[in-house]
Amino acid sequence: MQDIFDQFFGGGGRGGRGGSRRRQGQDLQTRLTIDLEEAYTGAQKQITVTRPETCEDCDGKGHPPDADSETCPECNGQGQTTRVQQTPMGRVQQTATCRRCEGEGTLYDETCSTCRGEGTVRNEATLEVEIPAGIEDGQSLRMEREGAPGENGGPNGDLLIQVSVRDHPDFERDGDDLSYNHAISFPQAVFGDSITVPTLDGDVEVDVPSGTQSGEVFRLEGKGMPRLRRRGSGDLYVQVQVVTPESLNSEQKEALEAFAEAGGEEVDVEEGFFEKLKNSL
Ligand SMILES: [Zn+2]
Ligand SMILES: [Zn+2]
Repeated sequence: MQDIFDQFFGGGGRGGRGGSRRRQGQDLQTRLTIDLEEAYTGAQKQITVTRPETCEDCDGKGHPPDADSETCPECNGQGQTTRVQQTPMGRVQQTATCRRCEGEGTLYDETCSTCRGEGTVRNEATLEVEIPAGIEDGQSLRMEREGAPGENGGPNGDLLIQVSVRDHPDFERDGDDLSYNHAISFPQAVFGDSITVPTLDGDVEVDVPSGTQSGEVFRLEGKGMPRLRRRGSGDLYVQVQVVTPESLNSEQKEALEAFAEAGGEEVDVEEGFFEKLKNSL
């Protein structure tokens, strides 16, 4: 459909003097990789992009200001050429941007040597990017008017920055929530203990109750990622893995089986059973 439209109306309905119309510049894209810590706190980052910028020597016109000019003989200064065609739908007037003057209607006897008549040059620009706290992997930031220059005084396009968040060695992220695996010893699972768990905001103490099973999950409310441009934070889920002793004597085995059968509940055992078990592991 678009093709037919372009054919009949000449370049997507861009009427009038094709090349002299104000047009917004193209949006440009770049990538930026940050750490999970930076996504947690938010950050100010510098990026360097190579992008087209308006040629300063000719002010984007493509020819020196003092160059001699003449009206384009190809289009009589109209910037576009018109052709009438017979089609099954009747007579169709086909309009196209003039190739000789590229739609400007004017020819110049000199071309800007800096930009070779393009009106733009490729420059390296260093920009400060504000990374909002809570940004997720794959999300894009838009920097308005930092894209390619517009044509004929039109505004610049935008610069889109696609943000990648590096995987963290300790934390797994799921939206605003984080999860963390923590190994605990068998005695810690059996008798309970206070364990130190890292968060992106420093260490916290977590009480592991006696009789904790391997794979049990503890939820630390508000210790996950901040919600992007909203109040509050996700949670941190700590999953404990009980490290089972590699070798046990028969007495220890029997004692632990009795404990396992009770599922961490009170067990009816002889005096000093737990003390003995704890010391023997
Ligand atoms: Zn022309
Ligand atoms: Zn130039």
